[in-house]
Amino acid sequence: AAHGRVFNFSAGPAMLPLEVLEQTQRDTLNFNGSGMSVMEMSHRSKAFEGIIKQAEADLRTLLSIPDNYKVLFVQGGASTQFAAIPLNFTQEGDTVDYIVTGAWSKKAYEEAAKFGLNANVVAKGDNKSVPARDSWKLSPDAKYVHYCDNETIGGVEFQGAPDVGDVPLIADMSSNFLSKPVDVSKYAMIYAGAQKNVGPSGVVIAIVREDLLGKARPSCPTMLNYAIAAENGSMYNTPPCWPIYVCGLVFQHLLKLGGLAGARERNVKKAQLLYDTIAGSNGFYFSPVEESVRSKMNVPFTIPSKPELEKAFVAEATAAQLLELKGHRSVGGMRASIYNAMPHEGVEALTKFMTEFQAKNA
Ligand code: PLP
Repeated sequence: AAHGRVFNFSAGPAMLPLEVLEQTQRDTLNFNGSGMSVMEMSHRSKAFEGIIKQAEADLRTLLSIPDNYKVLFVQGGASTQFAAIPLNFTQEGDTVDYIVTGAWSKKAYEEAAKFGLNANVVAKGDNKSVPARDSWKLSPDAKYVHYCDNETIGGVEFQGAPDVGDVPLIADMSSNFLSKPVDVSKYAMIYAGAQKNVGPSGVVIAIVREDLLGKARPSCPTMLNYAIAAENGSMYNTPPCWPIYVCGLVFQHLLKLGGLAGARERNVKKAQLLYDTIAGSNGFYFSPVEESVRSKMNVPFTIPSKPELEKAFVAEATAAQLLELKGHRSVGGMRASIYNAMPHEGVEALTKFMTEFQAKNA
């Protein structure tokens, strides 16, 4: 492979497009004639202002973000937003609803529960499915409903925005952001840590409807206050300049490749190939997730008849340059994360390996 690179199936940080990495390499010593790297550049400089403005404009184009939404580049990972969300959108004693379909939405709920709220788990999944819509016990007076659009560990993905009526809907899209078109207008807020589909870790993208801003608790830390981030163009303090620049390159790359419709088409094909291989294995491989909500980004699978083979699978795959296929420590088995930047050939190589491993061991 070019540059000795491997197929990296990590859940994140994850692969970036080779073209983007090559561009960062060309820019490292001298960005666009500035005589310096983006890593060395004042965030108040004209050059960086151009980078962040262009990144926002390109993201707006990709997602057709309506004008009444702010695009923010914030910090602390998606995990910090678990706390920032209640601090921005509630006062003590308010009611908030959480749909829990896996480990990440559970963590988001547990964080919110620290802030003196009436915090409810209104639907709880079994890490393999999404509870039937008519079983959800939504609170009519909730300040928001929070859910995770793609559970990275379990591999459970919603197929479109859930219908929660008029209550503001907040989505953690960390692991499927920009993998397909999304109707932003259905959401009060979408947020995503960058390190899966978008860029280096250290930056989080938050898309927030304007009318929700400016109602944070007086105790909300300045750095977690989305209204302050919005008023300051995501530069209240020194932002993660280099990660933002790389995100911008990824946005341009996606636009060049047919936008999010193009991304969806490629992702559907990759996921199809992998799930078809599992389904065609006569039960040797098994996907624990209910078919209608299987993630196109994170694909957990097991070897149910001979779980002792799973270790060998991961070791032999690693030797074959197929890396990071070990399942999350909480669930075991295997997991292939096949984000935007995983080439189709990567999934072909994995499925070929799976078929050969089965033939050797069945
Ligand atoms: N939410 C989801 C869906 C994730 O997959 C992750 C990380 O893997 C997080 C939140 C936490 O992100 P961070 O590590 O950026 O805090």
